Amino acid sequence: MTAHKGPVEIVLVYQSLLGIYGDRGNAMVLLKRLQWRGIEAKLTIVEPGDPLPASGSVYLLGGGEDAAQVSAVRLLKTDGSLFRALDAGAVLFAVCAGYQICGTTFTIGERDEVIEGLGLLDVETRRGPERAVGEILSRWRRPDGTETLLTGFENHGGFTTLGPDAAPLATVEIGVGNANDGTEGAVQGRVIGSYPHGPNLARNPDLADHLLQLALDTELEPLERPEIDELHRQRVEFVRRNARR
Ligand code: GLN
Repeated sequence: MTAHKGPVEIVLVYQSLLGIYGDRGNAMVLLKRLQWRGIEAKLTIVEPGDPLPASGSVYLLGGGEDAAQVSAVRLLKTDGSLFRALDAGAVLFAVCAGYQICGTTFTIGERDEVIEGLGLLDVETRRGPERAVGEILSRWRRPDGTETLLTGFENHGGFTTLGPDAAPLATVEIGVGNANDGTEGAVQGRVIGSYPHGPNLARNPDLADHLLQLALDTELEPLERPEIDELHRQRVEFVRRNARR
């Protein structure tokens, strides 16, 4: 394993602004999966107004409402540390509203006001024809070429289209995803955006480990946690059984 100095730092960004869908659970999952492997880890929760550390290995953004998205963009641009951390090799996992603000632009409110995003992902979000609400199931191709299913719960009015510099994270089997175009989420370098809540990483442990491996630049030993595999299996079955028409 690559030597890592000090505890691996997971940074939960603006939990009270972008935390209404329980996405903080993603931080708990990352922390736990490191600790179970005997890797020292710590969680830093950053609230609006507090400076972000630039020392984090994984940064997390969650879902939230339109006004919160605008505030989060303003604060993150002013702070600047997220950009510095990404330049230094950190990983960013952003869910729903957090995903949308990573793009070049997104819209808010009844008048679809266009807001400039963080520009970390080559994606644009505009109001979709209807709100996407419900369980989502998609296929994710792991870096080793094998496929696994991702499950979660989506709830978004914005539809996201990808530009040439961003690749889809996964292919939708059930649900809407980015824009009912068969794609879900986006990847660009070490920035990963995805719509599902759940929290996402509790339902998709393989994706959690992928983020950790990217951040630590090393392969991690697989964890034997049958109860987590069973939860994943049950969720996949549940989504298939209750598929929206
Ligand atoms: N405001 C955004 C939308 O509705 C994000 C919602 C969310 O984070 N769930 O598209």
